[in-house]
Amino acid sequence: KLQTGLVGLPNVGKSTLFNALCEQAQAQAANFPFCTVEPNVGVVAVPDARLDELARVGRSARIVPTALEFVDIAGLVAGASRGEGLGNQFLSNIRQCDAVVHVVRCFQDDQIVHVAGSVDPVRDMETIGLELALADAAQVERRRQRSARRPAAAAVASAGGSAGARLMEEAERSALDRVAEWLDAAVPVRQRWSELSSEEQRSLQPLGLLTAKPMLYAANVADVELADAAAALNTSPSSSSTTAAAAAEGMGAPSPQVEAVRAYAAREGARVVAVSAQVESELAELTPDERREYLESLGVCDMDTVGLRALIRATYDTLALRTYFTCGPEETRAWTIRRGTRAPQAAGVIHSDFERGFIRAETVGYAQLIDAGSLATARERGLVRSEGKEYVVQEGDVMLFRFNV
Ligand code: GDP
Repeated sequence: KLQTGLVGLPNVGKSTLFNALCEQAQAQAANFPFCTVEPNVGVVAVPDARLDELARVGRSARIVPTALEFVDIAGLVAGASRGEGLGNQFLSNIRQCDAVVHVVRCFQDDQIVHVAGSVDPVRDMETIGLELALADAAQVERRRQRSARRPAAAAVASAGGSAGARLMEEAERSALDRVAEWLDAAVPVRQRWSELSSEEQRSLQPLGLLTAKPMLYAANVADVELADAAAALNTSPSSSSTTAAAAAEGMGAPSPQVEAVRAYAAREGARVVAVSAQVESELAELTPDERREYLESLGVCDMDTVGLRALIRATYDTLALRTYFTCGPEETRAWTIRRGTRAPQAAGVIHSDFERGFIRAETVGYAQLIDAGSLATARERGLVRSEGKEYVVQEGDVMLFRFNV
């Protein structure tokens, strides 16, 4: 199961957001055991409008969305990389995660103390970024010292060791050198990851570097700011004037805080999603109609572009995940794979028997199937392909696996 950690300074709204994620998941997906696995781990449905369409075409009795796990990681403070607070435990919790959502406080509330005394999201982003970079730098340094103590593979090679091992060692050494340099300048490793050779990347994998993980920012804004913030953040990160873009859409300008977060993230090439933890925790208690009404009163017309749904979607995209579907009378269901997964391994997500006995996969693209209106018509039109073991599953494929038992 892929896990995404929610990190951030204390009192930025992480737990409120985490609880809202879990409650809404439970409320909206009665068919699925979405739940809080552990006090700080929750399973969350990934919203996908295609499921309803498919279920209609397939006359399915139920819909099962795919899921992501979120982990509420408490306890990060400045100095965590030196073990302040629960620093070390906190850092090892992040190391287990596949992606990181950094929650940043943009809302003002005099009742809620900010650990640094004032609301300044960019300072907070820098504080956390620095702690993660320091933790990685320490990890890299330990690794370098350990390999320095190890007898060189070159020497071992002459005694019968493999040339492959020597190459791997060289790749690791150069990777550690380069990464150490980036971290020294507080540059997150993810930002320059693609400059590393594939051997270098592989050699770093076991380290679980925190700043190498995919990351996005969740700007936690006040309820009244939500619509404007979402409008500003959802314009392309490269557009220089969000204010003009927002004005063109008839929205107000985002607050200076939100604008600062947007600019900071754009420099890193990271995504930002506007959320309001407070709004989300209120939404969790409403019916779908009440929810729409409430959001409209805040000026939010498209629920998919703001808040938790947008955050879940953005996390999914940041993890480079892909969705394929199975669709039949019993259920229409979404399944998660990593980009580039071949048909047998995709089948293995459903059951290991499907992978082991894989013969072929009858496959039709989502849009083609919807267009045809039924699987039978899609077949008649020759749109259902028979794909073999080498087929790389595409986003939105609807698949029926043939396998030996
Ligand atoms: P954490 O320490 O980051 O997990 O923060 P919490 O989720 O525990 O929130 C800290 C306090 O801030 C709580 O009293 C929340 O009710 C409050 N809070 C969280 N999000 C918002 C928000 O969007 N607006 C306001 N006004 N208060 C919030």
